[in-house]
Amino acid sequence: KTDVAPKEEDVKSPPLAGLNVMNVILVAAECAPWSKTGGLGDVAGALPKALARRGHRVMVVVPRYGNYSGPQEIGLRKRYKVDGQDMEVTYYLTYIDGVDFVFIDSPIFRHRESNIYGGERADILKRMVLLCKAAVEVPWHVPCGGVCYGDGNLVFIANDWHTALLPVYLKAYYRDNGSMKYTRSVLVIHNIAHQGRGPVDEFRIVDLPGHYVDLFRLYDLVGGEHLNIFAAGLKTADRVVTVSHGYSWELKTLEGGWGLHEIINENDWKLRGIVNGIDTEDWNPEVDVHLKSDGYTNYSLETLNMGKPQCKAALQKELGLPVRPEVPVVAFIGRLDHQKGVDIIAEAIPWMVSQDMQLVMLGTGRSDLEDMLRSFQGNHCGKVRSWVGFSVKMAHRITAGADVLLMPSRFEPCGLNQLYAMMYGTIPLVHAVGGLRDTVVPFNPYEESGFGWTFDRAKAGKLIDALRNCFNTFWNYKESWEGLQRRGMLQDLSWDHAAQLYEEVLVAAKYQW
Ligand code: ADP
Repeated sequence: KTDVAPKEEDVKSPPLAGLNVMNVILVAAECAPWSKTGGLGDVAGALPKALARRGHRVMVVVPRYGNYSGPQEIGLRKRYKVDGQDMEVTYYLTYIDGVDFVFIDSPIFRHRESNIYGGERADILKRMVLLCKAAVEVPWHVPCGGVCYGDGNLVFIANDWHTALLPVYLKAYYRDNGSMKYTRSVLVIHNIAHQGRGPVDEFRIVDLPGHYVDLFRLYDLVGGEHLNIFAAGLKTADRVVTVSHGYSWELKTLEGGWGLHEIINENDWKLRGIVNGIDTEDWNPEVDVHLKSDGYTNYSLETLNMGKPQCKAALQKELGLPVRPEVPVVAFIGRLDHQKGVDIIAEAIPWMVSQDMQLVMLGTGRSDLEDMLRSFQGNHCGKVRSWVGFSVKMAHRITAGADVLLMPSRFEPCGLNQLYAMMYGTIPLVHAVGGLRDTVVPFNPYEESGFGWTFDRAKAGKLIDALRNCFNTFWNYKESWEGLQRRGMLQDLSWDHAAQLYEEVLVAAKYQW
């Protein structure tokens, strides 16, 4: 008998996963906060923790690009052959929020923090071969909490082309030989545009039995006959997930599948779209660490009307813009490339600066687009500020201080910035494509419903039409504006919901439903 009330975590203790508790190993080329170039890093950092909260035993395997403080070397060495060369790896381990993070250390990964995908194509492939070869054996070699995972109830989650070799290695090295028979693999498509394409003779680098080459061989109009790593992974994985419903549909079209649409259609039965969640500790205006200084402030739904204007003023001040609450601050944050449609914004700028508004842009990427961003600031100094660089702090501050977030992406598998924006009472204005279409329900002024503005073609004219409506609401319909903000902030965009859906996929893979 005890008269002490049970603690909340004890009440929750039975795993939500029930009888389907599994060992899950997520393998990725990047994982936040240690390494991140985009959404993949965020997902690799957050989904595992949400799966662990559901009661699964979860590990992340990722390269060790830098000297991270925290993870400890475990004194284990293994050797793998990559393109005929013997490579030694060591392992670093840390345990955070219920997840075992395993870092694979090798000279070929080191000092790549700011250039994870840089170098010659064949060298990138070699790095990914080493990662996948090591990762598929981690459950046998790396003791976590003193005990190796082994292969009982084991599912690997591989991500994008970089780790698409993992399902293939699992099959070729193990399942074809009668071991790891019940181990499953799920391959997540974050972005189909990058596929690990190369000449067919690079098949020697992937180190597989000769007959496997047919899994990789692909012919299309862009690449002719070539070796395609993603193709092999898609064919071999037990299940395939992509990061939104809209994108799972687009992948099956000639335009959206980037040469892989036929393979995706053939494997449609194992494909599922699940919208990414967001890390609600990191991206939460109530506790956001980047809003604790320089005039910014934390805020919540209750303090939105005080907190957000204060953040807006702080942002205007920090960027040297006139501090004016009455002008809409429009923002863009993201990689500068063709996908993200920065050039569409560029085309719309003359109209934008003819309005009483301010534009703030943060991004890195293609050097011509970086130059373009810098030139905006020079040409429209009173109204436009551009920040060329990768700054997590500025991304948070802009998300909090802006009124509107622009995402004119030509394609967008999921998109995270629109989700972060909605959490911060910032209204998304997006091209209705992929995950943007799934998540930004258009504003309906008659029903006072929806979360933002969408436009149906990635063209400057369409962006301008949507902005015109948006500004009209901002200036003239304050209550509607606040309604949009509140509805956005009230959504549950956490990983907990997405993790439940992932669990359904893991279970389906396990039982081969
Ligand atoms: P993608 O993965 O295609 O780059 P997502 O919207 O899925 O796009 O994720 C982008 C992530 O990277 C977001 O967390 C976004 O805030 C962040 N990000 C992109 N560019 C920058 C930048 N220049 N500075 C800081 N964060 C950035």
